[in-house]
Amino acid sequence: MSVRHCDERNRLFLEHRTAAERYSAAVTELTRKMGISSFDDYRELHQAAEAARTRSNEARGRVARHVAEHHCETSK
Ligand SMILES: [Zn+2]
Repeated sequence: MSVRHCDERNRLFLEHRTAAERYSAAVTELTRKMGISSFDDYRELHQAAEAARTRSNEARGRVARHVAEHHCETSK
């Protein structure tokens, strides 16, 4: 039997959404600066975008792990 509502899952899900939005914003910034900023600036933005992507992936992993351990996936 699965749990319909889980505060922890909601919290982790929101965390992932925030991280995903930050990654998206970083990519937008990177695209906007492409060709107009110096190589160093671009490299810095690129690293920031990569870091944001890693955080987003980790947050998604935490949601998946929690759901697997807690069996609180609502789609079932
Ligand atoms: Zn849960």
